[in-house]
Amino acid sequence: MPWSERQAAMLHEMGIRLWQPPSPGPGSAVQQAPETAAAVEVIEPRPIAAATPALGDLASLGWDELREAVVACTACGLCKGRRQTVFGVGHQRAQWMIVGEAPGEQEDIQGEPFVGKSGQLLDNMLRAIGLGRAQPQGVDADAAAARQVYIANTIKCRPPGNRNPEPEELARCEPFLIRQLQLVQPKIILAMGRFAVQSLLRSSEPIGRLRGRVHQYQGVPLIVTYHPAYLLRNPEEKAKAWDDLCLAVAAAAR
Ligand code: URA
Repeated sequence: MPWSERQAAMLHEMGIRLWQPPSPGPGSAVQQAPETAAAVEVIEPRPIAAATPALGDLASLGWDELREAVVACTACGLCKGRRQTVFGVGHQRAQWMIVGEAPGEQEDIQGEPFVGKSGQLLDNMLRAIGLGRAQPQGVDADAAAARQVYIANTIKCRPPGNRNPEPEELARCEPFLIRQLQLVQPKIILAMGRFAVQSLLRSSEPIGRLRGRVHQYQGVPLIVTYHPAYLLRNPEEKAKAWDDLCLAVAAAAR
């Protein structure tokens, strides 16, 4: 994939060195290309969550009703501490759906997922592959669906002090995410971090063991990757996240 100057700058910011073809000169060091298409290995679909209690109730809801249901939700204790719910953002029929964990302080204030530091890194990573959360200018609806992602969290309310979500909270909130996935009908899902993975793949394996393969969620290819907050704490892992994005690009194109 040839990179524009802008993409190269973005990747540089992410701490990712671009692969260059080996120079013909004698004695030149040869870097390895990131493993992308070669790593595509399809894992058998796992059964989805046995229907969570509220899922049936949500099955007929469109976007507006679903958003209202989230706003009104009091199914777990997180409703008591939230400033507002954080529903999702982006193209409602996006080809790419990004699933994160839970809102943090900034998200709780602004009502939009990934608007803090993790969000800036996520936006930069997406921009490097020509994607974004904002509506692209001057393109028709189909072209926009290819370039604008939909971003949602597994949990719609901020856990106090940014603690990890409890299993009960994840279970209560999951039907909302499932309905969002049903409405978006993405071509590819990027699951970031262990709670997104637990919800969508029913797996508690570490991210490091699950990444690098194409999983399936209800017949939709799903790529597991590190959460941007983890990448901010462990910048040396950014190159792996970049490989994951390349794998997702390859899987989406199949
Ligand atoms: N981390 C997430 O997983 N989601 C957000 O919206 C913000 C931080």
